[in-house]
Formats: sequence, C-alpha cells, structure tokens
Amino acid sequence: MNIPFLDFKHMHSQIRPEIIQAFADVYDSYWYINGTEVSRFEKHYANFNDTEYAVGVSNGLDALTLSLKVLGIGPGDEVVVPIHTYIATVLSISHVGATPVFVEPSLRTYNIDIHQLEKVVTSRTKAIIPVHLYGQACEMEAIVTFAQKYGLYVVEDNAQAHGSHYNGRKTGSWGIVNAASFYPGKNLGALGDAGVITTNDSHLAKEVIKLRNYGSDKKYVNDIIGYNMRLDEMQAAFLTVKLNYIDDWNEERKEIASWYTSGLASLNDITIPYIVNKSDHVFHLYVILVDKRDQLQNYLKDQGIHTLVHYPIPPHLQSAYNHLGLKKGTFPRAEMLADKCLSLPLYPGLTKDLVDQVIEVIYDFYE
Ligand SMILES: *Cc1c(COP(=O)(O)O)cnc(C)c1O
Repeated sequence: MNIPFLDFKHMHSQIRPEIIQAFADVYDSYWYINGTEVSRFEKHYANFNDTEYAVGVSNGLDALTLSLKVLGIGPGDEVVVPIHTYIATVLSISHVGATPVFVEPSLRTYNIDIHQLEKVVTSRTKAIIPVHLYGQACEMEAIVTFAQKYGLYVVEDNAQAHGSHYNGRKTGSWGIVNAASFYPGKNLGALGDAGVITTNDSHLAKEVIKLRNYGSDKKYVNDIIGYNMRLDEMQAAFLTVKLNYIDDWNEERKEIASWYTSGLASLNDITIPYIVNKSDHVFHLYVILVDKRDQLQNYLKDQGIHTLVHYPIPPHLQSAYNHLGLKKGTFPRAEMLADKCLSLPLYPGLTKDLVDQVIEVIYDFYE
C-alpha cells in the first residue's frame, strides 16, 4: 500500500490540456510580468472572493507583509495573532517591525480563541490576524466586534481556506485587507509561488499595487519605497484555469473528510475535527488529535500511509523567536496541539477505498 499525504495526479491530469494551453499562450505572448494574465486572474479572484479588488503578489508571506505595511503598521505596534498557526503569519508581523502578541487556540476549532482576545489588548495594539486554520473559518462576527471595540484593523490570513465562509460571507472578505497563499499544496495552488491580497478599499488596493512593484504604478515613476513582490503572468494564467475547479475540489475535500469522520467517530482514542456553528470548513487539512501521535504516525508509515504534523513546533519555541523570551509552558494549549495533532492524507482524487484502508490501519493500531 502506498497512500501519499498529497497527490496532484487526479487534479492535474484533469486540467492538463488547459494548463498546457495557458503555458503556450503566455509563452507566445512574449510578455511575462505585469500583463493581462495577472489582471484577468485578479478580476476572477475578486469575483470568487466577493471583494471589490484582488491584487496578485509573489506568495502568501509577502501578501501578509504587504497587508500590514499598507496599513502603516510598524515598529512600536502590536499585532494580535494565534499562536497555533504556520510561522509565516508571525513572520509578516516581524518583517514590518511590529511585535506579535499571541493568543491560544480554541480547543474545539483550533482557531484563535475569541474568549481570550480582550486580555492581550494594549494601547499599542493595531491589528488582529485571524487565521482560518486547516480550512475552517474563524468566528468572524466575534472577531470583528472585538476589533471595532478597540479600533483595530482585521487582516485575515486566508492561506488555507479559499472558498470557505462564515455565516455565508467568504473568508478573505471580512478584513480591511486580507492575504492568501497559492503555494502548490494549498486548496488553490499555483505551479510555483503565488499569493493575493483582497480588499474592498480602492485606496489600499492602489497602494498595494504600487508597493508590490518598486513603489510604482507608472514605469520609472516611483512614489514610495516599494518591493518586488509581483505575481508573474505564467502563475496567474495557471491560477485562472484552476480557479474554475476550486469549488468542486473543495466539495470533494469535504466529502473525503466526511468519510474519515464517520469512520473514526466511534474511536475514543481520537479527537476528530469539530466544526463550529456558522463556520464552513473546506478541509485544507484533516487533523486529528491523538495521545501516541508519533507511534501512530510511524505505524501508518510502516503500512505505506503518509501523514504530516501541522505544526510540530509552535512559533514561540522556534529559535527565531528566542528573543521574545516565551518559555515552554507559556501556551499549554498550542504546545499540546503540537504534540498531539496529526494530518491524514487528503486531496481531491483520494478514493473512499483508500480512506477506508487508512481508517482500518488506525483501528489496527489501537487494537
Ligand atoms: C502557506 C501559509 C502561509 C504562507 O504562504 P506562502 O505562499 O508559502 O508564503 C501563510 N499562512 C498560512 C496559514 C499558511 O498556511
């Protein structure tokens, strides 16, 4: 048996002719940066995400960094962020010179615990970055209410939840500016690095367009000190093709997740995903909690089933954040999740038969 953690074969063979055509069109256009493919993708993505504007950028980390930058967040400012997230969310805060202020996850959803937001607010707090982790939308109404109360910006990290929604409103459309990643393994993935910023604010959209391109929206005229954080024509063309399939692929992810859930629900040793009322979950990852995580992971691996851990070391225990002086024990929930979480294989094309085999091997382990 060999069940990979992620397999592009089903998705990419389905769209191969369209991708090859998209490649040929860009190749033959002789125009590879700042052209019509990027603006076409931006239009389609804004429409998909229910926002006025989408601005293509180089990757998810740059999308987050530019989002904070365009809001004027910098040294001396604090940004509230979940401690249980991928490190890139935190890095973006550091890259603009601001200070991350961590909040523990909810033990039901693993997203930021909305009941612990109030206690971290100071006079320096400028923004909050909710992360729709694993594909489940955060409780956005509570987060927006909290942000309004303290005059904070909301910047969503929608890297794992393209197409998800909270109470019918799309993730990536709640914040003032929002970031997403199209890293290949994300629900909507490019064939290389790519990202996007979504917003309803025309001024911020214009500023981001400048910031990503040397501070310029007119060749050789530089208004501000910008970056090179552009999305390229090739990736934009591939993304336009894949965007037509994302809703179907998300539905397929949900169906696969439901097979795992019904198969594993009666196993007391395992905590299966909990979906909060009003939240949609597009299952970027199917994450279970187990006590003997490493043993189970090795047992599965010996049977040819490949799993991953998202994520094994929380940001505060990474060497990169030594200077914050946050010792082990500071965030017991996040540390517990890092020890117990396990992501099972999940990708469009994964069959019921293979999922049943994974479930069977998990039962074997506990017998
Ligand atoms: C993938 C990811 C990022 C970073 O995206 P890149 O395109 O790899 O830079 C940021 N935040 C979260 C939650 C992610 O999963």
